[in-house]
Amino acid sequence: MDLTYGPRYESFRDELRAFLAEHAERAPRGGVGVSAGAAGEALRQWQALLIEHGYAARTIPKEYGGYGAEPDILERVIIDEELNAAGVSRGVGGQGPEMLVPTLLEHGSEEQKQRHIGPTVRGEEVWCQGYSEPGSGSDLASVQTRAVEDGSDFLITGQKIWTSTADVSDMMFGLIRTEPEAKKHAGLSYVLIPMDTPGIDVRPLVTMTGQAEFNEVFFNDARVPQANVVGKRGEGWAIANTTLRHERNMLASSAVLDGTLRSLITLMGEERVNGERPLDSPVLRDRLMSLQSRVTALKYHQLRMLTAQLQGRPPGVAGLVTKLAGCEVSHQLNGLGIDALGELGTLYDDSKHLRAGGRWQSQHMFTLGLIIGGGTAQIQKNIISERGLGMPREPKPAKA
Ligand SMILES: Cc1cc2nc3c(=O)[nH]c(=O)nc-3n(C[C@H](O)[C@H](O)[C@H](O)COP(=O)(O)OP(=O)(O)OC[C@H]3O[C@@H](n4cnc5c(N)ncnc54)[C@H](O)[C@@H]3O)c2cc1C
Repeated sequence: MDLTYGPRYESFRDELRAFLAEHAERAPRGGVGVSAGAAGEALRQWQALLIEHGYAARTIPKEYGGYGAEPDILERVIIDEELNAAGVSRGVGGQGPEMLVPTLLEHGSEEQKQRHIGPTVRGEEVWCQGYSEPGSGSDLASVQTRAVEDGSDFLITGQKIWTSTADVSDMMFGLIRTEPEAKKHAGLSYVLIPMDTPGIDVRPLVTMTGQAEFNEVFFNDARVPQANVVGKRGEGWAIANTTLRHERNMLASSAVLDGTLRSLITLMGEERVNGERPLDSPVLRDRLMSLQSRVTALKYHQLRMLTAQLQGRPPGVAGLVTKLAGCEVSHQLNGLGIDALGELGTLYDDSKHLRAGGRWQSQHMFTLGLIIGGGTAQIQKNIISERGLGMPREPKPAKA
């Protein structure tokens, strides 16, 4: 087994390292960001530089505002690895660039691609995902928010919930019932909705992190052109699933896990609890080693999937476990970060004794949410067993 990428890719890596040596100080700190709010302008400038050099929007065609390179999976992995290792932001991310853009490239009309892809990858247009409703989460196809025709427009009425970033978004991609007579899955359309449309009301919801990370979004006869449907009317279920596939990949990147693991090892070597390094505690070191082996296993798991992709083979059941395992490990890494801080790990908000701005505490709570978002762990296990392992489908509750 050869785990090296070969000379062509190592010289690509060297070029990227040289770019980072020259420009890294202009970058916002790690991860991907949503370009809204006070930090937005710095992130947009960094994104513009990344696109210019081909380290963001790399394979998006030039005519839609990308760099226009041929798809190459190993280049994508190297970019992720190096930006993470340098601790700099991977640019503008979130639901627009990482979920909507690939969906539009696959299913959008030429006009929709021209209109939305460029501003989205540049961070000028921020998106939210309008799928979940108070009665429709795991059973997503039961959404009730409906659209009725009015000339060439739709009038949309209903409610979405848990809509991340809706309060700062310009646009929503929403799953809306447009064909009330059709069967459950066939009655839905995938609609692009401007958030400043009269009749849309966004109300933030504060989570246990203390931040308002989600929102409720109410629609009351909100008028949206029918031309904003992606694909055909009634085909929204298939299109929404394209987006969900990209969401699950986004939530479980092994390069991100690797970055968190490295920060954790640094923390455990530098911190002192009762005069001792957490790294010298047998109990904490045992947990660290167990998590380190899971992160390594996920890294090689992703390499195995890369090999399948490069050889044109479907990833099969391997592709289904990534989101479940990746999100759980991420949560456990952050939990160990809290425990390694001893009593300082119990602090929150604005204590002057906080380490790393309370990052371990807030990420521990946030990553718990990622186990639920994009399909809960239980739903992922159903998918793995039914679609991946061919086990019998779970019984449906009897209809009255
Ligand atoms: C951090 C985060 C971000 C989110 N962002 C968005 C967003 O931007 N846009 C959006 O539309 N939604 C978003 N969501 C909502 C998310 O998609 C839903 O929370 C999720 O799909 C679960 O739906 P629910 O909350 O209605 O729970 P329910 O579906 O009511 O499930 C409740 C519990 O029952 C279990 N359960 C349900 N059905 C089954 C079954 N068949 N077998 C076994 N167990 C089952 C679930 O696993 C869960 O534990 C987000 C959620 C989180 C946590």
